Amino acid sequence: MLGNMQEGQLLISGLIEHAETYHKDTEIVSRSVEGPIHRYTLKDAANRSRKLANALGKLDLQQGDVVGTLAWNTFRHFELYFGVSGIGCVVNTVNPRLFPEQLIYIINHAQNKYLFVDLTFVELVESISDSLESVKGIIILTDKDHMPETKLKNVICYEELIADESNEYDWPVFDENTASSLCYTSGTTGNPKGVLYSHRSTLLHTWIVSSGNVGKISSSSVILPVVPMFHVNAWGIPYASAMFGAKLILPGPLMDGASIYELIDLEKPDLLMGVPTVWLGLLQYLNETNQTLDSVSTALVGGSAAPRAMIQEFEEKHNVFLMHGWGMTEMSPLGTATSRTAEMDNMDIESRYDLQEKQGKAFFGVEMTIADDDGNELPKDGVAFGRLLVKGPTIVERYFKSNESSLDKNGWFDTGDVAKIHPEGSMEIVDRSKDVIKSGGEWISSIDLENAAVGHPAVAEACVIGVLHEKWDERPLLLVVKVEGKDLSKEEILAFLEDKVAKWWLPNDVIFVSELPHTATGKLLKTNLRDEYKEHLINTGK
Ligand code: ADP
Repeated sequence: MLGNMQEGQLLISGLIEHAETYHKDTEIVSRSVEGPIHRYTLKDAANRSRKLANALGKLDLQQGDVVGTLAWNTFRHFELYFGVSGIGCVVNTVNPRLFPEQLIYIINHAQNKYLFVDLTFVELVESISDSLESVKGIIILTDKDHMPETKLKNVICYEELIADESNEYDWPVFDENTASSLCYTSGTTGNPKGVLYSHRSTLLHTWIVSSGNVGKISSSSVILPVVPMFHVNAWGIPYASAMFGAKLILPGPLMDGASIYELIDLEKPDLLMGVPTVWLGLLQYLNETNQTLDSVSTALVGGSAAPRAMIQEFEEKHNVFLMHGWGMTEMSPLGTATSRTAEMDNMDIESRYDLQEKQGKAFFGVEMTIADDDGNELPKDGVAFGRLLVKGPTIVERYFKSNESSLDKNGWFDTGDVAKIHPEGSMEIVDRSKDVIKSGGEWISSIDLENAAVGHPAVAEACVIGVLHEKWDERPLLLVVKVEGKDLSKEEILAFLEDKVAKWWLPNDVIFVSELPHTATGKLLKTNLRDEYKEHLINTGK
């Protein structure tokens, strides 16, 4: 027997309409690409999203057409999230940090009809424009006064595009399973793969990230998402702002410690969101200038593992709870978080840090298990570790334009991560499956070693890779970037690690480097390092 309830469609346009009706005065503050701080309200955003919708209609866009963005976190990008998806088109947020060949691949693969581009990226688009196959025009996200000289063809100024449009528009109603946005993974090998979100998956994910166990987002929240809108929809926060009327502070192109602190000081956010490298920059700035984070109660960190030293510094110097989240593009993106619980508040601080170091519990809507290479489920005992598999309505079924499902016969999606699940439900990432080190048939976690190494005050960044070894097949090699001006020897760092990891995990050698390579989303790029240092232990006999 079916229930008797209505079948309203969960649509992104509904979010911005709701925002205008109930939270019209909530502010969106942006550091504009042109420089000055820009402020307006959710009512303004709703008006301008409808103007944009009218303008998009005149560009002859049909439902299902894809429109690309190369843009920072600002109010104009915010409008594109609602205006483009709202009319039934797909907003493809392209990550400008990717290599030009990857950008060309994505824009052509997605068949972007128009590109909306921040001033910062005009030159980049010029350099690839000859290779773009489907793009009919470029809209530059600025006003008339700031329009640049460019050799690009069919260029339109964003402010002029929407200026004379009506701010009345009836958002179309369509099936909530209609595609709304498209984000490509920044795969380290092979072409990027597209994940095509729907209105329904986006709204479900928005509810999840806003819920009490995660962001606790409400109309009294003031959120600073440093996590970019060009990568996994800034963890869904623009949508959450509209759903709950939360004030947003959008950092535009400047994400260094000083610029982020300037916004914190000015706008007093209570919730920050970003990847560990951004927080490293902020903490370093705060240390240098002797400042504290008075307004902030929680910082959500994810994208890579947050080291214990960072969790501790946020807590002890700034009284900020560092909430560790985990997820991936394929999961909209968030899947787990270490929510702050009453139980945590009552435990001793070291045990609490132990929990915060883990990636946390799955949200309702995300099922999670671990399995061996043959797909046999492993015990969730905090000891066994294996492939982390997930299922749920905010998780990809197949990649964009693929004819094949990405799920196994039981409907699980393999995350490519290796993890443990503890008896109380917390998940702990051990490694990426391609990064685990197999020494004499036993696994060593590169993440655990890296996290332990960055606990040393002279270590700015650490990277552990598995390299060939005559006896054990593979052994860990530690690469270290030292904090500027600090001394550290091989012996010192190995001695420091001794009581932090199993003895047989200790790296066979340590190499000091001036910098480490990163992917476009800030993760350590280990593929080239593995090639470069493949024979290091064989050659040195270590
Ligand atoms: P990409 O586009 O580079 O794939 P994603 O953000 O989708 O970027 O990357 C997802 C991967 O990032 C996860 O599968 C996991 O390996 C890693 N990751 C994300 N959050 C964490 C975390 N908190 N701890 C450890 N690894 C993480």
